[in-house]
Amino acid sequence: TELVGLDNLVANTAYLRAQQIDRKELRKQKISLALPRPARTSALRTSVGKEFESLCEEQPIGRKLFHQFLINTNIQYFTAVEFLEEVSTWNFVEDASKEQVKQRILNKFCQPDSTSFLFFLTGKAAETCLQLSDDFDEVKLEQIRDATREFLKGKPFTEYLSSPFFDRFLQWKEYENQRISDKYFYEFRTLGKGGFGEVCAVQVKFTGQMYACKKLDKRRLKKKRGERLALVEKHVLEKVNSLFIVNLAYAYDNKTHLCLVMDLMTGGDLKFHIYHLGKRGLSMERVVFYTAQIITGILHLHSIDIVYRDMKPENVLLDGRGHCRLSDLGLAVELPKGKMAGTTGYMAPEILKQESYRMSVDWWALGCSIYEMVAARLPFKDFREKVQNDEVTRRTLEDECKFLHGSFDALSKDLITRFLKKRIALRLGCGNEDPRSHMFFQNINLHRLEAGLVEPPWVPKENVVYAKDAGDFRSSSVVNDVVFNDKDETFFQEFSTGAVPIQWQKEMIESGVFEELNVSRMNESTLMSRMC
Ligand code: ADP
Ligand code: MG
Ligand code: MG
Repeated sequence: TELVGLDNLVANTAYLRAQQIDRKELRKQKISLALPRPARTSALRTSVGKEFESLCEEQPIGRKLFHQFLINTNIQYFTAVEFLEEVSTWNFVEDASKEQVKQRILNKFCQPDSTSFLFFLTGKAAETCLQLSDDFDEVKLEQIRDATREFLKGKPFTEYLSSPFFDRFLQWKEYENQRISDKYFYEFRTLGKGGFGEVCAVQVKFTGQMYACKKLDKRRLKKKRGERLALVEKHVLEKVNSLFIVNLAYAYDNKTHLCLVMDLMTGGDLKFHIYHLGKRGLSMERVVFYTAQIITGILHLHSIDIVYRDMKPENVLLDGRGHCRLSDLGLAVELPKGKMAGTTGYMAPEILKQESYRMSVDWWALGCSIYEMVAARLPFKDFREKVQNDEVTRRTLEDECKFLHGSFDALSKDLITRFLKKRIALRLGCGNEDPRSHMFFQNINLHRLEAGLVEPPWVPKENVVYAKDAGDFRSSSVVNDVVFNDKDETFFQEFSTGAVPIQWQKEMIESGVFEELNVSRMNESTLMSRMC
């Protein structure tokens, strides 16, 4: 066993070292990278589409290049970007400096004698802009912001699409489309084990970015008919782009496994924190913070018609800074859009509201999870209580939720009670209200929370690995009697789509690779001459 202990120490050290690597140093050692030649990008021009939101707002590199185009083209475009940036600063700024930022925006953009006045606005928006300094309200500011976006969607966007900046974007897209294999990563210790294989830490060789890689054994998948689940998990993860859900960065395969490469969560799961670290249960401050983040994640899933269905502390993972995200989306289901049974005019409200009806399961499960965070037991089942499922079902359907153990206060009791309403119509989250407007969250600035700017109440220690010892994961038995056919190969291909655009582009920017390849090789003078 001593050798096993030593192995674990070595594995932990390598894993912790990799996380602390200085990315700049790493970049210096690597062979120089180059973007693919522009000549190869013509097919991409059609496949990337012409959607403004996707090309200029959602994709981080697209957004950067669009901004570079605007800044380099003329003063009006420049002003439009500046204005949008400052308004978003205003949205996220702490309450104390809000007034100051507001005044700056008004003086700079809404005074006709300022050089940064929003001259491009027309009609009602132009009027509103002029009135704003005397008669400020947030709705009007929003209106001007929308009008500015509309302006950019028009002529500036069209011009951008035929500019060298967009050519450059296509080169990045070409780079993004490269085939991904095991060679792309260094592999580190196992962090956890799932039904179809293990999850280990990996690092992208040329950027130093750490991820978690969930490996699904192809043979095991086939034997247990798990193919559909794997595709659903991949599909849902790739649709999601949220600070409160583990995001997918790559999906690829090798001979034996399908691999999902996701955000690495080094802080352990909430179940571990509730039961295994000294005093059982979490402080109320942490419960408030995690719950606000979890709700934000759930709302994001619901907004794209996905029901999570697996809400429990075990599936909420902490990152290195103490922020949490929802993980394990293998059970999530995507609701068919607009699919309803019945004839118009005869359908009951609950059928019409089918959506919120099915979303309601997540809010119930959240109520149970908050209870568990506080009391280290479930509302209808004690910790390690030996009890038949039937009895838990009976209690869930018939009993009122009681608060006999744990340090609940009035607000947490009220919040939990509202999530645990047996009638869906009465349950918090199932109407139009935002659960985060409950008094339980009164000390949280939601704008800042959504932007990931609220400091977590608890930060994981840097030199601790919040996972079981690497040697303690039982290795699964090998599945032998499985042969793959064409249908399986098609499935593997459908799964292995490589880099996920938004996450990949983020990685390029955060690692400095974008700056390196873009700035040093983008010759500004040729660009400008081609544009004029
Ligand atoms: P399954 O769907 O088979 O239950 P999970 O997705 O829950 O698999 O992953 C299994 C275990 O791997 C988790 O319980 C957790 O300990 C670990 N794990 C999963 N995803 C991550 C991640 N993104 N970062 C760190 N550890 C993870
Ligand atoms: Mg799991
Ligand atoms: Mg799962």
